[in-house]
Amino acid sequence: RCDVKSFLKRNWLLIATVLSVVLGIGLGVLVREYASLSNLDKQYFGFPGELLMRMLKLVILPLIISSMITGVAALDSEVSGRIGLRAVVYYFSTTIIAVVLGILLVTTIKPGVSQSADNIDREGTTPNVTTVDTLLDLVRNMFPENLVQACFQQYKTQRKEIIVSNPSPPMNTTTFPPLTTIFTTVAQHAWHIYMPVGILFLIAAKIIEVEDWDIFRKMGLYMVTVLSGLAIHSIIFLPLIYFAFVRKNPYTFALGMAQALVTALMISSSSATLPVTFRCAEENNRIDKRITRFVLPVGATINMDGTALYEAVAAIFIAQLNDFALDVGQIVTISITATVASIGAAGVPNAGLVTMVIVLTAVGLPASDVTLIVAVDWLIDRFRTMINVLGDAFGAGIVQKLSKRELERMDLTSDVDVANP
Ligand code: ASP
Repeated sequence: RCDVKSFLKRNWLLIATVLSVVLGIGLGVLVREYASLSNLDKQYFGFPGELLMRMLKLVILPLIISSMITGVAALDSEVSGRIGLRAVVYYFSTTIIAVVLGILLVTTIKPGVSQSADNIDREGTTPNVTTVDTLLDLVRNMFPENLVQACFQQYKTQRKEIIVSNPSPPMNTTTFPPLTTIFTTVAQHAWHIYMPVGILFLIAAKIIEVEDWDIFRKMGLYMVTVLSGLAIHSIIFLPLIYFAFVRKNPYTFALGMAQALVTALMISSSSATLPVTFRCAEENNRIDKRITRFVLPVGATINMDGTALYEAVAAIFIAQLNDFALDVGQIVTISITATVASIGAAGVPNAGLVTMVIVLTAVGLPASDVTLIVAVDWLIDRFRTMINVLGDAFGAGIVQKLSKRELERMDLTSDVDVANP
């Protein structure tokens, strides 16, 4: 199981992404050193990266819609409204806590603020249109059609089970999750295949264009900010909330979820981690199936503390990079849109990066600035997904404790799974 071939097969995307980052830096440095590109050439060089961004933007709407559909579809009529309400209150309050924590950290650490006065080079030149430009434009415009088409073809060929109708999901983390919709399938496959190529050129083009080498210090600090926010939320806040309600050791609980957390870290998808999350919650932490089957799938789709924290930090980081002073109103807007964007993000890799555009546009920052953080998203995504999964699991524990009476009142005699009446 542990042979090199299967490791490569399982992690090809991670390896390709890391390689593309390294190659992108190398290519960028080489071109910068040995070729003097005109502004137009630079634009051509950035074209593959631009295509990646178009793909990212393209999947926003389908991702949000699919995320909402899967969330609603996971609701089970047998689960009482009160249990649902508790779950939603938990999702919402922990997400807000994560966002506020992120905002506090990023405004304190200020990762995007320059030490020197100069900032990223942003020459907005409009070169003359040539035949090559027209051709490139043609390719650009082809993408939405192809993706939409791919989306429906995928749907026809792939009939996926819905987890709520499957009481014992397989323990195979490479199987795409239940609750899958056409859109998440597209998100998973289509742009991921292109991702390494796009990232390579995004980075190379950025390096060619960059005047401010301070950007690397800033990116490092940005990562430290997000990762320390995630650490504080998962090591202090979530355990405290769990303890306040359940009065049991939160760290023992978290340890019970270890396998799910590692899976989330490996595959960057809370939806795909779901089968493992179920097993850990039910077998190790003894949470009632009627709770897990409701709280976990809905949580995997809409409760993303890690993503919310990241969205808030990233948006403010981008504002700092742009020397864009945010007033209180805009910071409140960021907290609200970061929450919405995390709810809207599907539990698939890099979904948060896509919904980031909502946060940026809400405060008037250029949506294309997502490119500034795309290069490190493969790493940050893993950690935020892990926190998303942990947040869902603690939520299930808390909801179970609070719903003890309802659960007892509900028919406990039959062992009928609510998910499969
Ligand atoms: N990958 C994350 C998840 O599956 C979503 C995100 O991109 O933030 O939970």
